[in-house]
Order: sequence, then structure tokens, then C-alpha cells
Amino acid sequence: MSRLSNRIESIQESATLAMAAKAREFKSRGIDVINLSLGEPDFKTPQHICDAAKKAIDEGKYFSYPPVAGYQDLREALAHKYQTENHVPYKAENIVVSNGAKQSIANVMLALLNPGDEVIIFSPYWVSYDALVRLSEATPVLVKGTLENDFKVTATQLEKALTSKTKAIIFSSPCNPTGSVFSRQELQAIADVVLKHDNLLIIADEIYEHINFTGDQTSIASLPGMFERTITINGFAKGFAMTGWRVGYMAAPKWIADAANKMQGQLTSANCSISQRGALAAITCDLTPTRTMVAEYKKRREIVYQLLQEIPGIQANYPTGAFYFFPDVSAYYGRQFQGKTIANGDDFCMFLLEQAHVSLVTGDAFGEPRCIRLSYAASEKELREALARIKNALTLLT
Ligand code: GLU
Repeated sequence: MSRLSNRIESIQESATLAMAAKAREFKSRGIDVINLSLGEPDFKTPQHICDAAKKAIDEGKYFSYPPVAGYQDLREALAHKYQTENHVPYKAENIVVSNGAKQSIANVMLALLNPGDEVIIFSPYWVSYDALVRLSEATPVLVKGTLENDFKVTATQLEKALTSKTKAIIFSSPCNPTGSVFSRQELQAIADVVLKHDNLLIIADEIYEHINFTGDQTSIASLPGMFERTITINGFAKGFAMTGWRVGYMAAPKWIADAANKMQGQLTSANCSISQRGALAAITCDLTPTRTMVAEYKKRREIVYQLLQEIPGIQANYPTGAFYFFPDVSAYYGRQFQGKTIANGDDFCMFLLEQAHVSLVTGDAFGEPRCIRLSYAASEKELREALARIKNALTLLT
């Protein structure tokens, strides 16, 4: 009998974090690794956010436990953002601030799911969705998008996958790992399916909302009838370069926000007080630093797209948001290096880490074994160097 719980035995280590740890380990051995595995902005947190956090420390007023759901002024500012930018009438009472978007999703899943419940995950999906459904003792049901449709799952596919046990659907838009963005019409078609089924919920992960090059960022909660059916997930890590600050949030109908609040009260008490003061500055000040970062990501997308086209055997969709490419590299599976066969995405990524000193993440962790994920949240110089190294290393395969 395992001494560990079935719960922990049912999940894998986070592949994104594991690959980042491997890259760090290579670096500590003096190897010049270019880390394109972790989805982490390479920019510094904007100064006004840092100043707000410093001021909070100096004032000495924020050293005690914050309210479990987050400071009232931060929740009010987030509600205002939703009302004015996303056209969703969330109030402070609908919002819970957590230790990153990942915890927001965990709170919601632990609060909503029971053994036997099914959660439809649009695949390719962000690594932790599957694990968090399993930790909640529910059953993940993967519905796959195709490369031809930019990996986006259609409303028809969703309809076919629904059963009497489906409790919720989760997806991200802009999508990690594919960079695809659902248009308003596509979201409306999904909403139409959801609204035909009583009690069915959507968990809409919008953490990349600012990094959207389409000009159409629709919150599914803003569509008619969807307020009651949606849990919106977001956070400060990507849009404000605040990964280490660990501030995420969710917005949902009050009964779900209350349940998530209760869960959080038992798990972590609240999000770090000082981080919340930084987050308040981020959400209430102008978005110029965010816009500057997004313009830079857009430029890098073009560079990486062009360089990927120059590598034979790699097939990539053209991402319209987030900062990832998710190319199909399966043409290389079955090839060999020094007598060792590259059988899958894991082998492909290990080969490139060892031979090209570039770290990437296997697509298997995101539900698509033919692909690998490349984060282009790195400098133009690093990206050019990384793509040149990848191209060279792949010529070694026979
Ligand atoms: N969300 C980022 C990624 O996908 C951060 C790592 C993680 O938490 O998985 O790389």
C-alpha cells in the first residue's frame, strides 16, 4: 500500500516548473541555457507597483492578516475593472484574491467538485487543469482542438462531449499553450451550448487577457445569461510582470465566491498583504507599462514565427495571444542521435536541452504529445540565438 494519498499519486509534477528547474540546474553547472520553458515575463515589475509595495512596508500598516478574500479596496478596484473594461457587473463580493491564478482555480475546483463529476478540459490545456481536477477527485474529460482550427475546440465538439455528469468546462483564452484566442462569436456559440444545460458552469481562465493581439478580448461572463454560469480566473503575473508576487483572483456568482473564500480560509488564510498593495497600484494606474510589454511580445512573435518556418519539419500555428508557440515537432520522432531514438516530446526536449542548451516543455504535459511549447517571453537576442541553436541541433538527427 502506498504511504502517500491516492490523490497525490494521481498527478504528475508540474512539467513547466520541472523543466524550469532542470534549466536552472544546467545553469548552476555553468552551462549557458536559454530558458524558454517557463511562461514568465522577462521584464521587471513596473516601478510604480514596486513603490506601492515599498510604501506599504514603510507605513507599517500591512503586517497583519489581510481579510481572507483580499483587501476591500483591491476587490473594489477589480470589480470596477470588470464593470468598465470587461462589461461584467461583478461587485467586490464576487471577488476572491488568492496566491496566484492557480490557487484561484484550485479553490474553485475543491469547492465545486465531487467524486464522479466530470470536467471538460479544452485540449491542448494548461498543465495544471488536469491535475487540479484530479486533486478534486473529479474526472477530467479532454476534448481536443485541431491544429487546422488553431487548436480551438468548437461548440459542436463541446456538445458531443457533455454527459449528465459534466459539472464544468475549463479553458484559457488567450490560450496557454497554443496562443489561440476565442473570438466573441466562438464564445457565444459555446455559451449557447452551456445555457441549454441547467447548472453547467464555465471556468474561464483569462490570465493572458492583456496579451491579446486580436483586439477582441471578450469575457464569456459578459454574454447574456452567462454571469450566473461563469467563474472568471485572472491574475497579475503575466500582464504586469508579477509572477513572483503571487497574486491571482477569481470572480464568480456570490455563492461560488463565498465557497472559494471558505476554502481559502482553510488553506492559506489570504494572499500576501504587501503583494496586494502592489496589485492595487497595478490595477488602478495607467496601463502604459503593460502596453509597452505587449508591443514587445508582438514583435517577438513575428521573429519567432519566421525563424520557426525556417526549420524543416516543424509546423506551427500563428498565435494571436499569450506568449507561446506550440509547434508540432512529431516529424522528428523516430529519428536518432548517437544511437538513441527520439521517441516523443520528452526525448525531443531533453535532446535540445542537452545538445542546444535550450529548454522547452513537452506537449504531452498539455495534452498534445506531437507538440512542444516554446515561451517567447525572452529577449530578442536570446530568441534568435535559441532558434539558431535548435535549427543546428536538429540537423544532428538522422
Ligand atoms: N503559467 C506558467 C507556465 O505555464 C507558469 C508556470 C506554472 O505555474 O505552470 O509556464
